[in-house]
This record gives sequence, C-alpha cells and structure tokens, in this order.
Amino acid sequence: MSELRITNSLTREKELFKPINPPYVGMYVCGPTVSGESHLGHVRTAVTFDIVFRYLKYLGYHVRYVRNITDAGHFEEEGREAIDKVATKAQLEKLEPMELVTKYTNMYHDAMDKLNVLRPSIEPTATGHIIEQINMIEELIAKGFAYVVNGSVYFDVIKYAKGHDYGRLSGRKIDEMIAGSRELEGQGEKHNAADFALWKNAPPEHIMRWISPWGEGFPGWHIECSAMATKYLGTPFDIHGGGMDLLFPHHESEIAQTTIATGKAPAKYWMHCNMLTINGQKMSKSLNNTITLSQLFSGTHPLLAQAYSPMVIRFFILQTHYRSTVDFSNEALQAAEKGLLRLMNALATVKKLLYTGSENVVEKEEKEVNALIESLHDYMNDDLNTAQTLAALFELAGKINSYVNERLPLNSISEKTFTSLQKAFSLFVEDILGLKEDNAADSGAEMDGLMQIMIQLRKEAKERKDFATGDRIRNELLKLKVRLKDNKDGTTGWEME
Ligand code: ZN
Repeated sequence: MSELRITNSLTREKELFKPINPPYVGMYVCGPTVSGESHLGHVRTAVTFDIVFRYLKYLGYHVRYVRNITDAGHFEEEGREAIDKVATKAQLEKLEPMELVTKYTNMYHDAMDKLNVLRPSIEPTATGHIIEQINMIEELIAKGFAYVVNGSVYFDVIKYAKGHDYGRLSGRKIDEMIAGSRELEGQGEKHNAADFALWKNAPPEHIMRWISPWGEGFPGWHIECSAMATKYLGTPFDIHGGGMDLLFPHHESEIAQTTIATGKAPAKYWMHCNMLTINGQKMSKSLNNTITLSQLFSGTHPLLAQAYSPMVIRFFILQTHYRSTVDFSNEALQAAEKGLLRLMNALATVKKLLYTGSENVVEKEEKEVNALIESLHDYMNDDLNTAQTLAALFELAGKINSYVNERLPLNSISEKTFTSLQKAFSLFVEDILGLKEDNAADSGAEMDGLMQIMIQLRKEAKERKDFATGDRIRNELLKLKVRLKDNKDGTTGWEME
C-alpha cells in the first residue's frame, strides 16, 4: 500500500509524511477572526484541515490539533490608523468586545457543526494568551531582533534576513517586499519598511488594551499564532496549515519570530489550501459577493438561486483538490447537490445489501472492485486528493447500483470483496470525507420553502389590509429568531438572528 505524501509549501514538493515523534502529530491551523460572521472562505480552510485531521487519525496517529480564535485586534496596517476590527465592530453593534467575540465564536461553532467539521483538540484565543505573547516579544528584544519605539515593538526583518531565508515560504525576495510596501502607519517608527509590528502602543481611544513592559497596547496578529503554537505544540511541530492568503506576511512572519525566539523553525510541513472564487471573481466587500454561512444555508444572498445545505457545500469543496482554486456558482452547487444525493443513495443501498447465494466470481469484476477500493487509499495518500477519491467512490457507486439492478449479480464478486466494499464505502464517505445525511433542521432548502409560504401569507394579508395578521406573522417569527426584511423592490427576504 502507498504511504501518505503531502505537498510541503516550504519546498513546493510532495514529501513523504514522517511525523517528528510518531504516533503523535502536532497540527496548528490559523483559525477565524471573530469580529464578524464567517463566510465561504472560512469554510474551505476548515473543511480542508478537517480532512487532514480525520485522515491522520484514520492512519492511526494521535493528533493534537490546535486551531486558534483571533479575538484580539487583528489590526491591519492599512491607512494611517491601526484598525482594531473587534473594537470597531463592537462599537457598531453596541456590544462589549467580549460579547461580540463570543457571539461570532458561537456562530462559527454552530456552522462548523452543521458542516460536520470536527472540533480541534485545543482552541486557544489570542486574548487568553497575552502573557505568552509578551514573553515571546521580550525574548525577541533580548536577542536583538526586535526594537521598541514610542511604546510599540517591531521585528527587525533586515537583521533576520541576513542570516535566514526570509521569503522562502512565500517565494518573495526581500528587496521586492521593501519596494512593494507603501507608506503605512508606523512607517516613521520602523527602521525599515519591511519590519512588522509585534506590539502596538494603544492611542487613548483604543478599547482593547493590555498593560505591557512598553506601556498600554495590543499585540500584533502574527505573534499570536507563534506564541500559541509554541505553547501547545513546542518547536518544531509537524504541520502548520492555513489559507494561501496567509503565506505572506502572516506565515512568513511566524517563521521569523518563532525561529529567533525558540531557536527552531516552527513546523516541518506547511500546508496551504487555495482560494475560493465566486463566479470567477475574488470575494470582496466592494463586489458584494462575500456570502456568509447563514446566507448560504438559507439562500438569502442576491447571488444565490436557492439555499444550499451544509453537506452540499462540504461535498462541493471536496470535489476539488485543496491546492486548486474552487469556483463557486449556482450551477456548480446544483450539480454538487445531485452528486451528493447519488453518493448518499449508494451508501444507503450498500449498507442494506445482503450477500446471498453461492459465489460465482467473475474475475474481471472481482479485480476491478478490489482495484477501486485500493485506489481510495492511494488517492488520499497522494496529497489528500479528495477529488480523485470521490471519483473512485462514484465508480464504486455504479458497481453497487448494478448489483441492485441485477445487471450483474452480487455474487459475481466474492463475499470477502463484498464485505470490504461495504466497509470501505462507508469508511471513506462517512468517516474520512465526513459526509452524512443532512439533518432536516440543517436543511436550508426546506427552511426556505417554509419561509416562502410565510412571506406569501403575510403579503396576502397586507394586500387585503389585514395589517394585524401581517404584524403577527412578523412578530411570531421574530420570537423564533427569524427576521423578515422588506426590500425596496417589494420582495421580502429573511434571515436567522
Ligand atoms: Zn496564524
């Protein structure tokens, strides 16, 4: 049997997976920023590393999977002000920052449960690890790779790059990085444009602030992951993952910080999943194509022709290898819906199928089925190629259907082969790919169907000037946390609160 190979972003090559201390595997994945509702982009990262987690466990490894929650700042050095996303959103929603963070963390967990994404072993938060971050920054200062200016601390990239391969992960050259950086906030304080902030001095209006040796301030985003990964996994650990958009500056900075602070590179293998585009375009606020998960499950975004269930989304993502771009469109999702149904029907069928009568093995059929079962492992071992694995499962689904339709009697394969087909089919569909029947409660399509009836009844009531009934429908729905939204064009949409 083949062995697991994964593409290491450091070398850009498929490498044989050899954990540092088998059977233990340490895996760190950059989690969501919980200053707002999760969107489609978050799903791809979560599903990709859920597959890595599930498959490593299937191979018999003890996986310590750490996925963080970014709840402190995640300030971006855009424009003049360092933007604190959490504080800004909290002011907007009139919530205590921690209240806001908890609200979106809960929503993220709910969505992940519906998508059958397993919870990580440890889910640390940035705000819960300020001391660890301060300690690491002090270590960097003591070693001469960070400097303090006006209560802020910066990492000295130029000094680091003299002795280390800065830019190796993202394939960027340091000269280009310097030339490409704009005149940004804190530029006057930095020794060099390529340097990045480890700690920022908090201006008086900044809400989220902590006491540090350099005055009141808040941590940089990169240091959060270095501090938490080191605390729970040590250095080096096995796998560090995230979306491809994190290669630079986030992961490149993590490598630099951890290497200096601990004397060792953070991770042996770096894995990155590719981007998700919508109708061929990048997701962005200006294009209004950032679809949140609740909009997706309820079909309430203008770009959606219908609601899509969490399992359809999961299946849709798995149809593409994680290193390729996925393009999201209604046509592709509707096709995914049909594909998933076919697969789940075959699963239900094979589970119920009983082997009866004596064997009458057809050599060719016997060989084909065994080769397909074997290929399921080979495809997963080949850099977790879920696309090929699904293709092989569909070929097996075709076999299963032919036994039921009696185009070919079931006893044309041996009982042993039938048993392994039954086991492998449910192992790969349910345990490894994490696909399951959609719960009725999770099914956006059904919910949307019900809601369209309610909206129509309310519309009819208003048309006959029965405003009491119209209001009652709206208010009763609100009690169930369903909010109706009357659009300017006369249509009505709905969303879950
Ligand atoms: Zn990170």
